[in-house]
Amino acid sequence: MDQEAWDQARKLDQENPLRHFRSQFVISDPDQIYLDGNSLGRLPGASQVYLGKMIKQQWGQELIKSWNKDWIHKSERIGAKLADLLGARPDEIIMADATSVNLYKLAYGALAFQSSRKKIISDQLNFPSDLYILQGLIRHFGHKHQLQLVGSADGISIETSELAEALDQDTALVCLSEVVFKSAFRYDMAEINHLAHQQGSLTLWDLSHSAGAVPIHLNKSEVDLAVGCTYKYLNGGPGAPAFLFVRKDLQDELESPVQGWFGTHDPFAFDLQYKPASGIRKWLSGTPPVLSLAAIEPGLDVILSAGMEQIYLTGVKQSEYLIGLFKRYLYPLGFQLGSPEQPEKRGSHISIKHQDGYRICQALLDPSVGNQEVIPDFRQPDHIRLAITPLYTTFEEIFLAIDQIKYICRDQLYLNYPAKVAGVT
Ligand SMILES: *Cc1c(COP(=O)(O)O)cnc(C)c1O
Repeated sequence: MDQEAWDQARKLDQENPLRHFRSQFVISDPDQIYLDGNSLGRLPGASQVYLGKMIKQQWGQELIKSWNKDWIHKSERIGAKLADLLGARPDEIIMADATSVNLYKLAYGALAFQSSRKKIISDQLNFPSDLYILQGLIRHFGHKHQLQLVGSADGISIETSELAEALDQDTALVCLSEVVFKSAFRYDMAEINHLAHQQGSLTLWDLSHSAGAVPIHLNKSEVDLAVGCTYKYLNGGPGAPAFLFVRKDLQDELESPVQGWFGTHDPFAFDLQYKPASGIRKWLSGTPPVLSLAAIEPGLDVILSAGMEQIYLTGVKQSEYLIGLFKRYLYPLGFQLGSPEQPEKRGSHISIKHQDGYRICQALLDPSVGNQEVIPDFRQPDHIRLAITPLYTTFEEIFLAIDQIKYICRDQLYLNYPAKVAGVT
């Protein structure tokens, strides 16, 4: 253990303007280093209290009356709060369903609207679920469309020029993740939107690894459509409903493929004929999962009070610090950096690659190895993802985690673990 480097990490923590926010999260084991906030964010203390109260009072005592008091407008109200964080108008975002379902709804709307165009563009680094959804839509529309996946030369990033080349007047939709899930490569959304709009195509962004991780300006960047999940950097809890964004002037143009009662102009009129709600409510379909929906709000309040710019600045500092340690301690042990080097081209996790990555992850998760347990996650074939979540990640944790990886690799302790991947990684 390099004592001087450890002291330096502690000093950086003392200077961190966000240091007081860590206590707003439930940290049940201070010796467990959690670097997986990009998969499941920590539990905000306020969410625990709020949900307990809500279950007791709203569900336990007020029962059905709570629908009119609070629940019926919750999807829009929390959406409006999220819009504040993502640079959209309050009536452009609503909480609903899972990200995959929202992607289906909005991509359907876009393709039906652009019915004379036959090309959909995405990339080879995209989250596979997004591609499955697009493949399913192509079948739904009778195999009229062609899905073009722009490739990546280095497996880490995508060149804008290659996207520009793929774009043409036949392109209905460009559907990308702003921050890609393995390498954390980050697109310049404004630039891509500009290029897409020049060809008359619409853009649909998946912000699952962006919301709460990097500053987003949906309106300023001229985004048409977006979706994203809330259980990662937004700390909304496992399976919390996702969000969707539809640019104001497209809301009445695009149609939802799931014409459920919650998306009608008056669900309790029980009309026999579907008549969509005007505005963003059209994209609801059925009854929202009220408890999971409620759990999103306290985490969102923490992020808004810390300020996204400050979270991002600290995140960049912590990422640069991690990469510095990586170069010094892990690069000589056979690791490769799996993320872009320039901070402006990255989201908020760092991927480090090693051919025995999965075994190394298992050794990290084993509390009997070395000084502490470290929780990263693993993505095939060789990515160990280390998430930086500045509201609760400390410089000291980053230092100790890298030290633990070094220890495990130097002594090849990972050889004690199976190489075959199993279960949720
Ligand atoms: C996590 C993630 C999702 C999650 O989708 P669900 O349908 O909510 O399970 C979608 N897209 C991307 C890019 C993700 O990283």
